[in-house]
Amino acid sequence: MLLTNTFNANPIKLESLGVLEYFEEINAKGVEIARQASKGRALIFGDISSTGKFLKPMGPIDFEDAVNAYKRQAEVLYNSGVDGFIVETISDIKELKAAVLGIRAVTSDLPLIAHMTFEENSLSVTGTSVKIFATVFEDLDCDVVGINCTLGPDRMLKVFRELSETSTKPLSVEPNAGKPIYSGNRLYYKMDPESFAVYAEDYVDVGVNIIGGCCGTSPEHIRVLRKMIGNRRPVGRDTKFVQALASRTIYKPTNTFVIIGERINPASKKRFQNEIVEGDFTRISNLAKEQEKEGSMAIDINLGIERLLNEGHFRKVIRELDRISSIPLSLDIQMNRHLEVALREYPGRALINSARVTPKSLERKIELLKRYGGMLVLLAMGKDIPKSSRGRVDKILEGVRYLEDNGISRDRIFADPLVLSLGAKNDPAITLETIKLLSGHGIKTTMGLSNLSFGLPDRSVINGAFLSQAIGVGLTSAIMNSKDTFVMNSLKGALYLRGEGLEDRSTIGKYDDPLVEVLLKGDTEELKRLVDEKLKEYDPLTISQEILGKAMEEIGDLYSNGAIYLPHLLLASETSQPVFDYLNSLTPEKRAYKGRVLLATVEGDIHDIGKKIVGTVLKSGGYEVIDIGKDVPTEEIVNAVKVHKPDIVGLSAMMTTTVGKVEEVSKSIKEQHIKVIVIAGGASMSRSLSEEFGCDGYARNASEALELCNNIMERIASSEAAGSDK
Ligand code: ZN
Repeated sequence: MLLTNTFNANPIKLESLGVLEYFEEINAKGVEIARQASKGRALIFGDISSTGKFLKPMGPIDFEDAVNAYKRQAEVLYNSGVDGFIVETISDIKELKAAVLGIRAVTSDLPLIAHMTFEENSLSVTGTSVKIFATVFEDLDCDVVGINCTLGPDRMLKVFRELSETSTKPLSVEPNAGKPIYSGNRLYYKMDPESFAVYAEDYVDVGVNIIGGCCGTSPEHIRVLRKMIGNRRPVGRDTKFVQALASRTIYKPTNTFVIIGERINPASKKRFQNEIVEGDFTRISNLAKEQEKEGSMAIDINLGIERLLNEGHFRKVIRELDRISSIPLSLDIQMNRHLEVALREYPGRALINSARVTPKSLERKIELLKRYGGMLVLLAMGKDIPKSSRGRVDKILEGVRYLEDNGISRDRIFADPLVLSLGAKNDPAITLETIKLLSGHGIKTTMGLSNLSFGLPDRSVINGAFLSQAIGVGLTSAIMNSKDTFVMNSLKGALYLRGEGLEDRSTIGKYDDPLVEVLLKGDTEELKRLVDEKLKEYDPLTISQEILGKAMEEIGDLYSNGAIYLPHLLLASETSQPVFDYLNSLTPEKRAYKGRVLLATVEGDIHDIGKKIVGTVLKSGGYEVIDIGKDVPTEEIVNAVKVHKPDIVGLSAMMTTTVGKVEEVSKSIKEQHIKVIVIAGGASMSRSLSEEFGCDGYARNASEALELCNNIMERIASSEAAGSDK
């Protein structure tokens, strides 16, 4: 299989490189060149990768714009005659989904391979685990899933094994030729073909179907690899897919009881309804975080009067919940066109709530499940609600058969036995009997618990008792009020009696420092309130440097330790900024000014989150910070230094391929004898590299950067003092 040299040739990337006009030519030529080289001996796969920019809410790109860009590239590759597609080196699961949908909008026939790239801890840079990748892509219309880049074959094996244990799809892999070494303005991958290919056996043993090489591999690597594999055939796997719901960062298997929080529902709450119509989703974000803390494992999203809402509302609510790294979603959306918008935008595996057992309702839901994946709540009713439990069970079995005939397996379904209000004289025994019978058919069940006590006093007592009984006859999930401690305790007891425990949530989402908690919730209002309280005791500068600054440092540490992910980090940084500004505005004159720092991410590198955090911490530490952005050409950085005359310039490089630019900037500054201290940081930098590049200092993270700047400024001050003595 030969991949076309079109990795960067999507319209968004080409536009940022200033060569969009050659978009069609580059892609068409890529296929032509590969075909000439293969001389008919290999399949030609169209190679597609990242736009180079993050999608909303993490970056500037609209999901549908990304889908369109990939669609355009796939069109050219398809018309040029590729035999299939591979999407690779992608670390944002939402971008991978956009690429798959874009390609599938062009052809549903050609084979499609979808790869993500992971760090050694089995997480992508944006916090998606291998398990979540496998789970979300199990349903999507791609033929092969796999992993490539970032790691050599030795370190990638463990990560790949997780994929082979989770996904039932055919698997592919392309490791790098080891870890790169930087020398003489170039990156070298030192792993020779023999050492690289020796791992082939291991990958075959864990079930790989397609194997190749990424960065640093040469035709020789592939030749030896091929020799090493010889005539070995792929090994069969008997992976059992575990049905699960997932958000971008949180995975919830459905083989244990699933608590679905019911409180995002504006029914009979006029103010909540108005907020939603006006596009203010603050309350929704807060409710999501609260329910997670209370013990919900997924949250039901019901936006109420859908006729008053448009596509934008549904896109926005999905992005907002993604932004705060919410638990998985149950999309309680009645209108199918709104539901489809939400399903496209969602970077996880959702529960679709719900469908009745009528051909019309089921057909549309099957279409959506096939295109976007997920699980489904099936109501035990057709046009009307059957009076007897037997009638309800028959309806569910009819629906399950219909879904199974159309390729949706029964383990993707939660049946809803229907809970009707006691106040209207409905018999709860019918619901219990329905659950019991369905459980005998191996069908999962969930129900809207609170309907039972609608309009009655002592609701939690009634709900709690009923939930216990339902669990006793086999209920496997409930949509319920997780804030009601009586109901939650009844649940715990009932599950315990059934021999199940609840996961221990005592450490999830709890941090000693309330500021850290509020920052991670993204609640600027609350943060300002807490800070105002501190202002009674401390002066603004102390709060900025010691209290809020410390909280941001702790968040930086949590991120480095893998306890939180990129979206959290972004959110905390966004949340803190206005409060830092507010604190600064309180004491403009008293503020201890330490110096001026200019920050930039070097050319070719689009990562600037770490740099932003460094900026925030430096500002809180008394520095004036000028951030000139990311992907900044060397000349522009040097010019900015001349214009702004900072004391220190901080350079950031995340990617191994861009560290060379740090050297370029550093040397260019020294050559032009510009009086400024150069420091560097970022995932791909190291102390030894920064020395080699002629930098004056190196910092691993934001708190080290602050310490380094403080040391530098002290040194400058003392040498100036010494100078004046002379
Ligand atoms: Zn690579």
